[in-house]
Amino acid sequence: MAPIQNVKGMRDHLPANMMLRQYIVNSLTRISESHGFEPLQTPIIEYAETLEGKLGDEEKLIYRFEDHGGRRLALRYDQTVPLARVTAQYAGQLTLPWRRYAYGPSYRGERPARGRYREFYQFDLDIVGSASPLADAEIVAMLCEALTALGFPGFVTLLNHRQIIGGIARVSGLSEEAAGGVYRAIDKFDKIGADGVRAELIKSGVTPAAADQILELVQIDGTADEVLDALAQKLAADERAVAAIANLRAVLDGLAAMGVPAEQYRVVPRLARGLSYYTGVVFEAITPHWPEGSLLGGGRYDHLIGLFAGRNIPTVGLAFGIDRLHDVMIELNLGPRPQTTALAFVTLFGAEQVAESLRLAAELRAAGINTLIALEPGNIGKQFKEADRRGVRFALVIGPDELARGEVVIKDLQRGEQRSLPRAAAISLLAEALSEGK
Ligand code: AMP
Repeated sequence: MAPIQNVKGMRDHLPANMMLRQYIVNSLTRISESHGFEPLQTPIIEYAETLEGKLGDEEKLIYRFEDHGGRRLALRYDQTVPLARVTAQYAGQLTLPWRRYAYGPSYRGERPARGRYREFYQFDLDIVGSASPLADAEIVAMLCEALTALGFPGFVTLLNHRQIIGGIARVSGLSEEAAGGVYRAIDKFDKIGADGVRAELIKSGVTPAAADQILELVQIDGTADEVLDALAQKLAADERAVAAIANLRAVLDGLAAMGVPAEQYRVVPRLARGLSYYTGVVFEAITPHWPEGSLLGGGRYDHLIGLFAGRNIPTVGLAFGIDRLHDVMIELNLGPRPQTTALAFVTLFGAEQVAESLRLAAELRAAGINTLIALEPGNIGKQFKEADRRGVRFALVIGPDELARGEVVIKDLQRGEQRSLPRAAAISLLAEALSEGK
């Protein structure tokens, strides 16, 4: 017999867990729509060719298979490459710049660890078709807004620009092709440290002197302005780096004007971000309470959509890792922990009161109050216990006396208080409790 077991690296989320996940997703949806982002959904399965050739080293993690007709298919690896396909495929129907959000699962054949799974959910935000630094700033501002709304303490968004790293490699004497190896080595900085990166650079053919210079430059530290001033001085000979620094300054001006507190972001020249499709600003959010890795990451990728569309469409975006946000929120005890989706439990006193009790439940729902109903008439004490065990706050009873008087008994199971009220008053009381709980 097959084991009764979910697949390794893929998780079940039982209701209590799901309610916190939905709270996270609902918060992100609300923020996305407050900025006028529109929803998009694409299939989990794509043609393998759609995904291949875009991810660099990461490509080996793609789950590939053949379907019944022998077509080469793959599970999507992220929601960015599918966005690129959609933008090219529906070019005539989309108004650029297009702000879209998307929520769903992606798949990577990684070695599972804490916060790292083979099926994981991402919530993506992208602004397609704008090269404006205000687009980068809006995305970063939204991520700061989201982490603040979810209550993450002490999070910081690290910012860099791919052409700053490129410039660091070039002024250290490396060729254009060798600069690619520099991103990969520097990306591991937090895992393997400066010595590890140095060894890796030298292994890839960089001279020890150049490796030392690269390491010195990527470790420049200070306020955003201090770091950019220092880089501007050291990279003055490299035109693309100079333009990148000016671009990053414009993004920072945007962030300040959008009201993002200065302590929520920093410029860190060693931030590379793994994916090969980034071309401009890159960023990720970290918190000291989660040393395992980034909470989320993103950046500007001006060429990826061009691989499908045949012309470059500048785009900036990010992916919130819902699993990581969720794991950290559980660990830090952030966010609400509801036990149930219902606020009210309508009991069934006896066969004669069933119809009126069901009518009451319908009226409660019509007033916006989530309501559970008992399924068997019988002992009211037992039904109260059931409501309480499920974590429902209010239990309601229509017995023969209440039916005759047009009233309802309402028991607050949290406070142990009970009273009989006219039906309309009972519904208002619950509506009030609902708005207080929000
Ligand atoms: P990436 O698409 O690699 O830029 O990742 C964006 C975000 O998705 C990361 O910062 C993580 O929060 C999340 N993420 C990426 N890979 C995984 C994974 N294997 N398991 C869980 N979350 C992931």
